[in-house]
Amino acid sequence: MKITAIETLLMHAGGPPTTSIATNPTAQSGSVWAARNWLFVKVHTDAGIVGIGECSGWPRIVETAVRDLAPLLVGQDPTHIERLWGRMMGAMMGHGMLGTVGAGAMTGIDMALWDIKGKALGTPVWNLLGGKVRERIRVYGHAGTPERARELVGRGFTAIKTGGLSNPVERVAAIREAVGDDVDLMVDMHGPPWLTTKDAILLGRALEPFKLLFFEDPVAPENRNGLKRVQDAVTIPIAAGERLATIWGERELIEQELVDVIQPDTGRAGGITQMRKIAAMAEAHFISMAPHSGSLGPVGEYAALHLLAAIPNALILERIEDDVAVRDQVIWPVPKVVDGHIEVPDRPGLGVEIDEAIVARHPSLGNVSVPGHPDDGAYEPGSWDEHVYVQSRFRRQRYFAP
Ligand SMILES: [Mg+2]
Repeated sequence: MKITAIETLLMHAGGPPTTSIATNPTAQSGSVWAARNWLFVKVHTDAGIVGIGECSGWPRIVETAVRDLAPLLVGQDPTHIERLWGRMMGAMMGHGMLGTVGAGAMTGIDMALWDIKGKALGTPVWNLLGGKVRERIRVYGHAGTPERARELVGRGFTAIKTGGLSNPVERVAAIREAVGDDVDLMVDMHGPPWLTTKDAILLGRALEPFKLLFFEDPVAPENRNGLKRVQDAVTIPIAAGERLATIWGERELIEQELVDVIQPDTGRAGGITQMRKIAAMAEAHFISMAPHSGSLGPVGEYAALHLLAAIPNALILERIEDDVAVRDQVIWPVPKVVDGHIEVPDRPGLGVEIDEAIVARHPSLGNVSVPGHPDDGAYEPGSWDEHVYVQSRFRRQRYFAP
């Protein structure tokens, strides 16, 4: 079998176009995801088998990277996945492109190669990874308010994450009160460079009574010393890794046990080939895996379901299920959350199909949004400069509301 062509499918997967910086450069409000895209990859073969994958990272840039990588792969045998991954890595290494953008491009292709291998052998990807450890994958939803948290619990979710950028302690207390003690809660601080290690520790200690499942990105992931200080000072499990890629990017978090939960993004960490190795590295350090999916679409979610089915240290999968109206229209079969879990797919390969007509009806609008709400990214209208002030009075008031 030989690869004959690589095709990309890019679509807008954000809010209404009026909040996109591409159509309204002066926008000061709107979701952080207003100009978000999903990028799907199709790898064609001379056997008639087509593999499907997805890249996150920064999709419009990643799309160009995927197209530029294609000549390296056309004419190659798609079943030698590790060899082809190395071929792509060798080509990108000299450009310094092994972060989430370069790894994002390799991810979609790698995912499609696993899909091809599974389809060719007539078996699901989880079977290629060693077989099933579990029949269903636990997922968590996102809630910023007690009302939203209650709604998610009503839909069957048993775990909920909330953003920590404004009044995290007060917010968690309200959500805990609303959903009771049987629901797992998590807090994501998003690792902003302006949140100091001392403040992260103060917040972490204040959150300890709520028995969180994890405390995510309490400081910037690049701040390894800060992460170690938070890890040593706070008893809540620490989670990080979504902004890093490949075994080399995630290595220090794991080797130095700076985290209890590793969170590579299934769409930009380097593909299933890298994710399974990261999982094994984590397993050796008693660290569990909870893949990041915050900006990922539904094909990447399928890859995560196969991976988590097969690794022993799978903790939980992030799921933002009503972010985009067409999430459940662009692919089939559509995964359903039942009792807080998604059933592991059973069809050959990844077992997911794309509706290209839906992709075509949602052309990409841009690659950058202007976050307008504090919950989205902490930008305040008219005060972009806030970002450069570490520990400003304004910010500390938001973290530590009276
Ligand atoms: Mg996060």
